[in-house]
Amino acid sequence: MTAAAAVAILRRVFGFDAFRGPQAEIIEHLNSGGDALVLMPTGGGKSLCYQVPALLRSGTAVVVSPLIALMHDQVAALTQLGVRAAFLNSTLGADEARAVEQRFVRGDLDLLYVAPERLLSERCLDLVARADLALFAIDEAHCVSQWGHDFRPEYLGLSVLHQRWPEVPRVALTATADPTTRAEILDRLALTRARVFVSSFDRPNIRYTIVDKIEPRAQLLAFIRAARTGASGIVYCLTRRKVEETAAWLAQQRVQALPYHAGMTASARASHQARFQCEDGIVIVATIAFGMGIDKPDVRYVAHLDLPKSIEGYYQETGRAGRDGQPADAWMSYGLADVVQQRRLIEMSPASEDFKRVSAAKLDALLGLCESAACRRVRLLAYFGEDSAPCGNCDTCLEPPETFDATEAAQKALSAIYRTGQRFGAAHLIAVLRGKSGDRVAKWGHDGLSVFGVGADLEENAWRSVFRQLIAGGLARVDHQAHGAIRLTEASRCVLRGEQRVQMRRLAAGRVRPVKRKEVQSPATDMSPADTDLLDRLKRWRVQEARTQSVPAYVILHDRALAEIARLRPATLAALTVVNGIGTRKLERYGAALLAIVAGTRPEAS
Ligand code: ADP
Ligand code: ZN
Repeated sequence: MTAAAAVAILRRVFGFDAFRGPQAEIIEHLNSGGDALVLMPTGGGKSLCYQVPALLRSGTAVVVSPLIALMHDQVAALTQLGVRAAFLNSTLGADEARAVEQRFVRGDLDLLYVAPERLLSERCLDLVARADLALFAIDEAHCVSQWGHDFRPEYLGLSVLHQRWPEVPRVALTATADPTTRAEILDRLALTRARVFVSSFDRPNIRYTIVDKIEPRAQLLAFIRAARTGASGIVYCLTRRKVEETAAWLAQQRVQALPYHAGMTASARASHQARFQCEDGIVIVATIAFGMGIDKPDVRYVAHLDLPKSIEGYYQETGRAGRDGQPADAWMSYGLADVVQQRRLIEMSPASEDFKRVSAAKLDALLGLCESAACRRVRLLAYFGEDSAPCGNCDTCLEPPETFDATEAAQKALSAIYRTGQRFGAAHLIAVLRGKSGDRVAKWGHDGLSVFGVGADLEENAWRSVFRQLIAGGLARVDHQAHGAIRLTEASRCVLRGEQRVQMRRLAAGRVRPVKRKEVQSPATDMSPADTDLLDRLKRWRVQEARTQSVPAYVILHDRALAEIARLRPATLAALTVVNGIGTRKLERYGAALLAIVAGTRPEAS
C-alpha cells in the first residue's frame, strides 16, 4: 500500500522512475511510524528518504539542518516541484518569519527546514507543540559527535524532540559512517529503537588519485587541463593566504578561479558562491569552510593541495564531486611538509590530550591511505567498515606504484638523524646524506660524519619521499617543541638494528598522468554535433530561467535531464515525461518552452 503510494509520489512529484538502494525501505519504515538512522554517502539520495514520507503522512515534516545555504537550495528545489516548503533561520526578517510560522501552525506546509538553535528556542518549541507533525528529520546528524570534525553543541539538545514528542517518527541522516560516530548519534539523539540503514559508501563514479607533491601548482594545472577544462571544480587549501594566491595564479593561467574563505567579506563570499552555483565552469579555491551545504550536482572534481585532517574529512570533501553520478575526480597532492604540518597542528593545539590522541589516530589512518600501494577505494571503504575488491578506477589500480625494499635507505636516514644529534629537520639531513657541504653543514662539522655523502645515489626529492614515509609510518617523528627536529622512535631502533625490513613506494618522479577516459566520458562527448547544439540552446534557456527566478540553474533542471532531452528530442508533452527529473509541475511549467526549443521555434533561445 505505502509502496505503491510512495512510487506514485516519486514519479508524479519528482519525475524519477524508481527508488535507489534502500530509499523505498526507509520510506516505508518511517511512514509506518518507525525511527531510523540513515547512513548514505553524499549524493546517495538522503533527502528523498524524508521528503517522500513528508508528503505521504499528514502534518508537516520538521527538518533540522545546520546549513543555511543548503536549506535555501532545498526549499527552492521543492518549491519548483510544487511542494509546500519553507525555512526558518536567521536570514528571515521578523515579518517573513512570522508568516512562515503561521503557515506551519495552520498546516499549510509539507516541510519546514529549521536551524537547530532556532528549533530549540522556547518560542519555536511552542510552535511545534501547536502544529500537526509528520516526522522529524535530523540532517547532518554527525554534528552531534564531539570527536567529529563538525561538532555543533546545539545538536546535543535535540534529544528533547524525543522526550516531548515520543510518538513522532524521527530520522537522523549522515554521510559520515565510522562506527564510533554511528554509536554516538544513536546514543546522543536517544534513537534507541531506531533501525539503522547502511548503504554502501562507495562512490564508483569518483576516481581517486594521490600524487607525490613535487611542483604542486604545475601538477594541479596539468590535472585541470588534462580533461577538465571548462568543468566546475573545487580546490582546497589549508590557509586563507594560500587560497588567495592559488586562485590568483590559476586566474593568470586562464582558469576561471575564484577564492572563498572566512576572511573575505560576506558579500564577496556570497557572490563567488552564487557564481559557482549558477554559472558553468567556475573553479572555487577554498579553505574547507567551503562546501558544507553546497549541493551542486555537477562538480566534476575536488582537488586537495593540502592534506585534510582525517579520512572522514577527505571523504566528505571529495564526496562533493559527481553527485549527479557522472564521472568525477578526487585529486590530491601530498608531501613531507603536509605530514609535518598536520602533526604540528595537532601537537600545538590547545585541545585535551584525549582529543589530540583521537586526532593523531585519524591523521595516521589518512596517511596510511596516502602511502598505500594498494587500491585506494578498498582502503577508504575498509575504514568505513566495508569490504570490497580492487576498483579499477583509482590511481593505484590504473597504474600500480612501484615499491622497493627501502631498508638500506631507511637505515641511512635514521643514522643521519642519530649522528647529527636528533636536532635537525629534513632539509639539513638530506644535505648531509647527499654530501652537500653548505655553510650550515660545515658550521656543525657534519661534513666530517660517517653518514656524510652516503646517500648521494638518491635525488633530493627521493630523500624527501623517504623521510615522509618514515614519519608517516612512525619510524621517525617530528618534535615540534624543538623547531621541527626529526627524532628517532622506538620503532626506528628495530630498523637500525636490521631486525625490521622496510618497503616504500618509489617516488613517481614528476609523473602527472593525463587521465585516460575511455570508459568514462562526459555526457556531452558522445553526442552528435546537432545534439550538442540543441544542448547548448537548452542550457542558454536554463541560464535565463534561473536568472529570472534567482535560483541555481540545476534547480530548474539537471544536466542529465537536458542531455536526455537533447538526445530524445521529444515532440509531445507525454514524451517529455520520460525524462528523468520532469514531474507534473515541471512539465506544466517548462514543457511548452522545452518543446519549442527542441522544435527550433523558440528564437530567443537559439
Ligand atoms: P544526499 O543528500 O544524500 O547527498 P541528495 O538527496 O541531494 O543526496 O540526492 C543526490 C542526487 O540524486 C539529487 O540530484 C537527487 O535528485 C538524485 N536522486 C535521489 N534519489 C533519486 C532517485 N530515486 N532517482 C533518481 N535520482 C535520484
Ligand atoms: Zn582502486
